[in-house]
Amino acid sequence: MKKKPILAGVIGSPVAHSLSPLIHTAWAYRAKIDGYYIPIEVPPSFDEFARAMDALRTVGFAGVNVTIPHKEHALRYADKTSDPASIAGAANMLTFAGDDCYADNSDIGGFEEAFKAAGPAVSVEDRALVLGAGGAARAIVIALQTLGAQNIMIANRTEEKAAALAEAFGLKTAPWPECNTFLEAADIIVNTTSLGMTGQPPLELETSKIKPDAVVADIVYAPLETRLLQAASAQGNPTVDGLAMLMHQAAPGFRAWFGGEARVDQALRAELVGELKRREQQ
Ligand code: NAP
Repeated sequence: MKKKPILAGVIGSPVAHSLSPLIHTAWAYRAKIDGYYIPIEVPPSFDEFARAMDALRTVGFAGVNVTIPHKEHALRYADKTSDPASIAGAANMLTFAGDDCYADNSDIGGFEEAFKAAGPAVSVEDRALVLGAGGAARAIVIALQTLGAQNIMIANRTEEKAAALAEAFGLKTAPWPECNTFLEAADIIVNTTSLGMTGQPPLELETSKIKPDAVVADIVYAPLETRLLQAASAQGNPTVDGLAMLMHQAAPGFRAWFGGEARVDQALRAELVGELKRREQQ
């Protein structure tokens, strides 16, 4: 009997902007794997999410990535959950195997890999400043702690959310209007807010206060070089961009569902940068 193509995809709302189909298609093409990776828009409720997952399992999907607003729904829907997904309280990966649905969180490992590739090793003495306290901030905090950071400060516009994250992970908080004051002391700075993203307000930071050797990361990837990263690069700071995290978080899903090599390299990066530039010109 002829082997059927492997099916996987990304679930979100909105989802049309996702670069994940491009990443998975590039890896499948390289590995000569017959498969499709499809963006699927699913309305925001848990019931709609569960209905869509039931349908995808029936038609034989191997798994899906999950993005806003369904990462918590994915955890609730799954039968089994990895430790990182449980700790994060969110999953960006569901793998369907027989009657089981397994939830995992590769955003955490994605940031870890991107950080390790770009920056020096994290020391226990390092002071990290994380801007934002949304879903991505949780994954970044877990990644920084896994990398060895013990002194993490969170600043977020909605202070209750910063306080909740700080309590859950043993962090300190800084008032959002005063985050420039804390820039000077930070060895690691990570923007996890959507500020600076195309169509969103800018991230107003006094970048001249950033220490010369601080590692500066921004998980926003459209535009690729945010104003924060531009300023940090111009000052000679090591930087980590959102595209690096995006590519690394995609790799575990490709390996699990398509069973091929998922190499994060310059050729893949160039393809994604080309697509981002094409979109900017539209
Ligand atoms: P989220 O849960 O909606 O959180 C958004 C965060 O941005 C919150 O901290 C929010 O603060 C803050 N924010 C939004 N508008 C703001 C404003 N006008 N002023 C101050 N703060 C503002 O979203 P998320 O899932 O964490 O994603 C955040 C960003 O990370 C997005 O740009 C997303 O594309 C990116 N991301 C990238 C990757 C990657 O692989 N590179 C992975 C995941 C996410 P409040 O709490 O006060 O609302």
